[in-house]
Amino acid sequence: QAKADGKGVARRFDPAQFAEAEARRREENDLRRALDAGEFEVHYQPIVHLNGERTVGVEALVRWNHPERGLLPPAAFLDLAESLGLLPRLGGWVLEQACRQAAIWQAQEPGFELNVNLSASQLGNPDLIDEVRDILDRTGLPPSLLVLELTESVALVDLIESARVLGALKSLGVRIALDDFGTGFSSLSHLGALPVDVVKIDKSFVQAMQESNGASVAEAVLQIARTFNLAPVAEGVEDAEQASRLRELNCAQAQGYHFAKPMPAGDLTALLHRQSALSN
Ligand code: C2E
Ligand code: MG
Ligand code: MG
Ligand code: MG
Repeated sequence: QAKADGKGVARRFDPAQFAEAEARRREENDLRRALDAGEFEVHYQPIVHLNGERTVGVEALVRWNHPERGLLPPAAFLDLAESLGLLPRLGGWVLEQACRQAAIWQAQEPGFELNVNLSASQLGNPDLIDEVRDILDRTGLPPSLLVLELTESVALVDLIESARVLGALKSLGVRIALDDFGTGFSSLSHLGALPVDVVKIDKSFVQAMQESNGASVAEAVLQIARTFNLAPVAEGVEDAEQASRLRELNCAQAQGYHFAKPMPAGDLTALLHRQSALSN
């Protein structure tokens, strides 16, 4: 047992702890290198209109195509990237990549929307507004087709500052969505203070709908959205029953494995081709 206390007592070498620190250092270096090495990819999950289930937009979701570990989801690297201060750069890359792709899709499918997630450090970055404006200019994506998502917990850290930054973003013509809506209920009284357009109803509410009282909870969350004039998008719809219940509750849009999983850009292009072939 190593002794942390006591003067002059050296910590005994702990191989397990050393290996852990070593692994973390390797992962940090790996992550710093990955962006330059072009190892990140953006996948896109369809957002459908519940009436007819037509794909009306996508959410951009980052993946790390690791040379040894394969395709990694955000849960495997995003927190570390944020703590290393890499998110403004990684997030900027995702935004530009996704806007460039969405500009192509909207030429083929007018009005096609793009949702992109923002992290806490991106929201706190004073260059964010200029960066979003520059990316929209460079890629030619109409601002009205971009929806920037941030979680309640991020938005509510500093309500006044968030309201200012979101207001500046909205003056560019983009819209704002509150992600994982309903999971931070303490914030309800502050909701009216934020210039938000869309709420992404958290998947926990969608998945609880089939339990007793679950439907009324989902209904209550949708009612709150309506009260604040926010367009609801249900997240994590995994089966037809959830979809039809949401339809009954007049939720217009949804996203989830029941409709489609996140996919590479090429697959989404193919999906849009099939969709427009069907409607012509
Ligand atoms: P999110 O923004 O709430 O995104 C929705 C997550 O739910 C995605 O996980 C998506 O793959 C997953 N999902 C979609 N449909 C279903 C379903 O039917 N059932 C279940 N169980 N899950 C479903 P993913 O891609 O692993 O992303 C996790 C989180 O990582 C995102 O949650 C978002 O907060 C964050 N994230 C992803 N990409 C980015 C990014 O580019 N920047 C930032 N800042 N955060 C990102
Ligand atoms: Mg999101
Ligand atoms: Mg979400
Ligand atoms: Mg989430």
